[in-house]
Amino acid sequence: MVKDESYYEEIRRQERNKNLKNKSGKYKNRKNKKRKNINNNNLKILIILSIGIIIILSVTIFVSYKFINSNKNEEEIGIEEITEIYNETKKEDDVLEAVLEPKNKIDDWRLILVNSKSPLPEDFTEPELVYVEGKQFDKRAAGDLQEMMKEMKKDGITNIWIQSTYRSIEYQKQLYDNKINEYLSNGATKEQAEALTIEYINRPGESEHNLGLAVDFNNVDDDFEHTRAYNWLSINAKDYGFIMRYPEEKAEITGIAYEPWHWRYVGKEHSYKMEALDMCLEEYIEYLENGGSY
Ligand SMILES: [Zn+2]
Repeated sequence: MVKDESYYEEIRRQERNKNLKNKSGKYKNRKNKKRKNINNNNLKILIILSIGIIIILSVTIFVSYKFINSNKNEEEIGIEEITEIYNETKKEDDVLEAVLEPKNKIDDWRLILVNSKSPLPEDFTEPELVYVEGKQFDKRAAGDLQEMMKEMKKDGITNIWIQSTYRSIEYQKQLYDNKINEYLSNGATKEQAEALTIEYINRPGESEHNLGLAVDFNNVDDDFEHTRAYNWLSINAKDYGFIMRYPEEKAEITGIAYEPWHWRYVGKEHSYKMEALDMCLEEYIEYLENGGSY
């Protein structure tokens, strides 16, 4: 069979086609591969983007959390600081108050002044009382009285006893009336009897004995001045917060005649200061009211 030109032509054409087909197949494959690559690349970008977003989100959340927390801490610190500042200020205020209000305020229970010009207030309530050597005394001062008696005896003073301490207002009234009646029965007028009585016995509510802070020793007479006990008290009573309440040289101020047996509790800081200033209680209170300090 003669293969003419067209035959070869045909063959070449077919081969070309084949080649073309192959080429296009290769092309297609390459194209697919390319598409696959593009798809792969997109996926990678997506993954990277996702990871990126996740990282950014995480970082954002972490930072926000930290920020909120730090704010919270700051808030907490803030409260603490404010409390501290408040406390400091309060302390300063207290100090300031102490400076502005010197220790001359006379709302001290130990300094209650009771005399004919200054009777106990109507609403005065009986103090809490305890027994010292069988006699009732203000509980707050009883320890000092007890200690004073103990030390006095330790120093060899045996001839000492407590005659009288706290008296209720009713009992004071009884004492007062008895004394008045005694003078009256001796022929004194009512005025004379009263004048004589109040020299030694206060009207009810006008006696320190109603406070539970006064103590009378031994026989309650002038002879007490000549005892060793009196001598000891004159030197040492102040160390236990006691003062001799009615000295002879202060009778005009106290309005009470000399009573060496009658001692009054005022507390140590006052007993020392009163002795240093040589003041009786009336003078000392006036001194404090006028701005004096102890
Ligand atoms: Zn007395």
